[in-house]
Amino acid sequence: MSNYFVGIDLGGTRIKIGLVSGDVILSRKIVAADAAGGLAASLPVLEQEIDGLLQCAGTGVHALSGVGLAFPGIVDPVGQRILSTNQKYDDAMQVDVPGWVKKRWKVPFFIDNDARMAAVGEWKYGAARDTDNMVMMTIGTGIGSSAVIEGKVLRGRHFQAGVLGGHISIRYDGRPCNCGNIGCIEAYGSTWCLAETVRSAEDYAASVLAAAPVIDYYALFEAAAKGDRLAMRIRQECLDIWAAGVVNLIHAYDPEVVVIGGGVMSRPDELLPYITERVGRHAWTPWGKPAIRATALHSDAGILGVIYCLQHNI
Ligand SMILES: [Zn+2]
Repeated sequence: MSNYFVGIDLGGTRIKIGLVSGDVILSRKIVAADAAGGLAASLPVLEQEIDGLLQCAGTGVHALSGVGLAFPGIVDPVGQRILSTNQKYDDAMQVDVPGWVKKRWKVPFFIDNDARMAAVGEWKYGAARDTDNMVMMTIGTGIGSSAVIEGKVLRGRHFQAGVLGGHISIRYDGRPCNCGNIGCIEAYGSTWCLAETVRSAEDYAASVLAAAPVIDYYALFEAAAKGDRLAMRIRQECLDIWAAGVVNLIHAYDPEVVVIGGGVMSRPDELLPYITERVGRHAWTPWGKPAIRATALHSDAGILGVIYCLQHNI
């Protein structure tokens, strides 16, 4: 009988869709995102992919028990509304996503912030299973965050508690961020600002990155590993920015475990030892040292988290 769920993690660069039964992802599909094109234009693509996953599993639409959506913005999961976006799917406040799910599949629906859902995934099934006090930081197109405190997923009066860790100022007189604030961590240490940081450097022309077709963290770390001076300097700056971000989250939420996820964690050995050492030196935690861990679930975290919330009504 029917016990299939579909979880969607709507990223700025990639959309991850998983067919879930219980706590197992039976099959998954990753498609390129068109965040600038908007959410309404993405729904037909999602519809096609969801039906495709059900078909491949040898089951029809009737076997679907629910759809969960992890969304990159501020989300009200109680009213099932997207409240605010920031340069990704900016039409989303006008899109009736629950109505779309109801019309197409007639099943329960759950929606919440993407980093919050990744945190739930890691807390229940991944790198933070051994604690009820954890925070997550995701480093990708933007920087996301979320917190679980004493076994409760932090949401807050306006549903934005915990999720704006990427928009904590690290430089009060720094760069404007696209959120409206100044000097946010995200304006210095995320993929959307990396290319500009690299290209505006004085020694850019002498760097191998000047010939790189795409400047992302993969290209930066590759160039740094080969001894490129500009790449090494910016990699170091980013490590210090991310460490500062982790310290901020520790000071704000008192976790026992910090999980770092996102695209950069495909190379955890290049990040974790340094960040752990620096955080250990600077975080004020007289009780001991929070464990700093790499994501265990990678791109499955948000899918498993949103389906957990849907199944358990939390
Ligand atoms: Zn910001």
